[in-house]
Amino acid sequence: MTNQLLLLPGDGIGPEVMAEVERVLDVLVARHGLQVSVETALFGGASFDIDGVPISEATISKAKAADGVLMGAVGGPAWANVPRDLRPEMGLLRLRKAMDVYANLRPALCFPALADASGLKRALVEGLDIVFVRELTGGVYFGTPRGIETLPDGTRRGFDNQVYTTDEIVRVARVAFELARKRSNKVTSLEKSNVMESGLLWRQEVTALHASDYPDVELEHMYADNAAMQLVRAPRQFDVLLTDNLFGDVLSDLAAACTGSIGLLPSAALGDAGKPGLYEPIHGSAPDIAGRGLANPIAAILSLEMMLRWSLQETQLADLLAQAVTHALDSGARTADLGGSLPTTEMGKAIVAAL
Ligand code: NAD
Repeated sequence: MTNQLLLLPGDGIGPEVMAEVERVLDVLVARHGLQVSVETALFGGASFDIDGVPISEATISKAKAADGVLMGAVGGPAWANVPRDLRPEMGLLRLRKAMDVYANLRPALCFPALADASGLKRALVEGLDIVFVRELTGGVYFGTPRGIETLPDGTRRGFDNQVYTTDEIVRVARVAFELARKRSNKVTSLEKSNVMESGLLWRQEVTALHASDYPDVELEHMYADNAAMQLVRAPRQFDVLLTDNLFGDVLSDLAAACTGSIGLLPSAALGDAGKPGLYEPIHGSAPDIAGRGLANPIAAILSLEMMLRWSLQETQLADLLAQAVTHALDSGARTADLGGSLPTTEMGKAIVAAL
């Protein structure tokens, strides 16, 4: 069966890393029997410049009809003064919401060859293999009312709204428990139930779901601020970390630093079974290095690996690609963020050679 893929390169280093994804895709098709038809569309600032919106209705329709969507990154200083609802990042929030991809899987894996690239000591990160399951379509990034208003005394007040419902918590918690059963059978749920009502509801709903459907899985609750400390102090104590949208955003970047570089980490955003997933590196458009061939394409290539695994059910090809990345790193291939000098394209070629 031919799978329909939609590629959204986006802005900054997005198109640079996506070109390496396409290099890998070509080899998987030509040599390893992968059957895909690939379409590319404008996204983010690139879409705003042409269509006046960060994502068009036509692209949203294509994304919902595809078997998998892979994006690069969006945003950058060129669009800093664009009205907020037309900013590239808003296009991404719209796409996630439209595809209803509520569970964001963010693995943080320390490759053996890179244990010394981490800011943490080798003894702390060697063998690190954890996954964040971050709620992606609710919480403070979407809650209303939100805004900036001028008060009677002329000063201003900015406000956002952290909101969660039972359904939103239960469906993402279910993803975490199911994933834990395929791994080390442990979930650590993070919130601030000590000071936030939405955090208290989060803890109560996760506890109830655990008792009713997943008593075989070990469940630990931890305050999100303590988790930040534990991730730096002893990151290997975790396996699956379940978080809301905001804490997951911040803490998964922190975990990324434990593995050596943000340029290594992929993510998958999943909805209900049978719906297409949205795959993206966790890094942004990196305007500071864009256009200079310095970007590490591994996070984007591993996002393809996650798509093969989670949306296309091509487990063997996913394993093969993961091994190729490991092999390329074992052979010494390094982009600048990993202390090496390989340009983006050469790192892509090293992975293709390993394939
Ligand atoms: P960033 O992730 O783009 O960059 C942070 C740092 O990491 C930079 O020093 C950058 O050079 C480096 N870096 C990132 N990816 C790298 C890679 N693949 N290889 C080597 N180095 C890499 O975050 P930022 O600077 O805070 O944001 C830049 C823009 O990206 C902003 O407009 C932001 O809103 C947007 N952004 C988009 C996404 C997304 O598209 N999913 C995510 C985060 C930020």
